[in-house]
Amino acid sequence: MSTIRNIESDLEFENKIRPQELQNFAGQEKIVENLRIFIQAALMRGDSLDHVLLHGPPGLGKTTLANIIANEMHSQLKVTSGPVLDKPGDLAGLLTNLNPGDVLFIDEIHRLSPIVEEYLYSAMEDYKIDIVLDKGPSARSIQIELAPFTLIGATTRSGLLTSPLRARFGIQCHLEYYDTAVLSGIVKRSARILDVSIDDDAAIEIARRSRGTPRIVNALLRRVRDFAMVKGEGHIDLAITRMALTALNIDARGLDQMDNRILQTIIGKFNGGPVGLNTIATAVGEDAGTIEEVYEPFLIMEGFLKRTPRGREATETAFRHLGLTPPTLGDT
Ligand code: ADP
Repeated sequence: MSTIRNIESDLEFENKIRPQELQNFAGQEKIVENLRIFIQAALMRGDSLDHVLLHGPPGLGKTTLANIIANEMHSQLKVTSGPVLDKPGDLAGLLTNLNPGDVLFIDEIHRLSPIVEEYLYSAMEDYKIDIVLDKGPSARSIQIELAPFTLIGATTRSGLLTSPLRARFGIQCHLEYYDTAVLSGIVKRSARILDVSIDDDAAIEIARRSRGTPRIVNALLRRVRDFAMVKGEGHIDLAITRMALTALNIDARGLDQMDNRILQTIIGKFNGGPVGLNTIATAVGEDAGTIEEVYEPFLIMEGFLKRTPRGREATETAFRHLGLTPPTLGDT
């Protein structure tokens, strides 16, 4: 057995490199700029920050931003998630334990049950909840005042949020996929924290193959670091990076299995399109909303896919990526 082992768990590793201040949160400039102002204004007024909705694909920094907001507001963060809160009592327990200014982070907020969601409305709006005591004829409800708090909701599927819930978030931020320059900056910062040296071109290579996603960048860096320790002297250069990424079967452009399956379907089954979203969804066995909100934005940003009035179309880049010859103009 190798004596070199990763002793940190995934979670420990993520927490170690998670930025704690807005100034270390790379990219998403508009969001960072606005949040800085809203936080400063709330602090100046001595108020809690307005409720924040963070939406965007997984791994782009929603949990990180929730941590940062709580830190910058000098308040405590309580973390939960939509599927965990299945009874109103669970939510009431959390809310009544909040101190003034605390931040409650609800991940996957689109998965709250409708009854819990309804309780949240008055909590968000008036900092009050009604709790029903007893059942049947003796049932009565009492109102409980809550400390002013900030709710941060995160979702990868904003399309599934009900409009009354969405309307109660005063601040709404959509996180976009990151470009290579920003991601390579994240690689270098993480490498510094992990105390491993890395060349610029190696950082760019990791960034290019990380699907525009900081979580993937950091996971790949960790794997490349292993290769550098075992196969080299610990330093990460371009050669060792390429060797590691090839050994790990990482796609040359950072696409994952589902990205490739979507492109293969449009090209193989529908001659490159145009083809409707629901047809693609059925063919690849994934939910249409997830394709639209999680997969498609990256494929469009990277120039693999086009949205046309008649449906989705694979681009020449997509054909070439799959090792196929694009149809000539005359064929279409
Ligand atoms: P999400 O909640 O959107 O799924 P996370 O906030 O958990 O994503 O981010 C995943 C990892 O990526 C974290 O460990 C964090 O260190 C890193 N990360 C995310 N966004 C950024 C950023 N803008 N700058 C630096 N690191 C980031």
